[in-house]
Amino acid sequence: MLLHACCAPCLMAPYKHLSEKYDITIFWYNPNIQPYREYLRRLKAFKEYTKKIGAKVIYDYSYPLEDWLYKTSILSKKSNVLRCKYCYADRLYRTAQKAKEMNFDLFSTTLLLAPYQKHELIKEIGEKIGKSTGIDFYYEDMRKWFDEGERMAREAGIYRQGYCGCIYSEADRYWREKIE
Ligand code: SF4
Repeated sequence: MLLHACCAPCLMAPYKHLSEKYDITIFWYNPNIQPYREYLRRLKAFKEYTKKIGAKVIYDYSYPLEDWLYKTSILSKKSNVLRCKYCYADRLYRTAQKAKEMNFDLFSTTLLLAPYQKHELIKEIGEKIGKSTGIDFYYEDMRKWFDEGERMAREAGIYRQGYCGCIYSEADRYWREKIE
């Protein structure tokens, strides 16, 4: 299985459980993480952790910032859901393409872990992309492992970010706090 990972903390519990049943290779592709310094910080934590556990990892360092912001700023004006939809589809499509290119049987994502993600939308997009690329999308409700993942990340002392990834989510998380 090619498992897309959004960050190290969200990888921990899904990797532990899925590795019991599947031969997992992890895929890093996250151009939604902004600003770039934050991207590097999460990538560093991810690299340190995956190295420590001896995981197989494929990196895609593409970071099409202008393109990403151009598309999402238009969508974001309409709704957050449309913006996230683009963000999920971009990362899942790239994962499925890589899985196809390298002859994996399945692809999936650790985005299915966090309760604050749009879970049903991720599932729907993953399944659609699975059908269109001919690589099966592996779905499991990974939210059942969320608390365990949080505990594992705390115990490992790994960097845990305070917002989802994009600058819109950063503003949602911190902007109001600073003004009031
Ligand atoms: S809030 Fe998260 S999922 Fe939605 S667009 Fe931003 S980074 Fe992507």
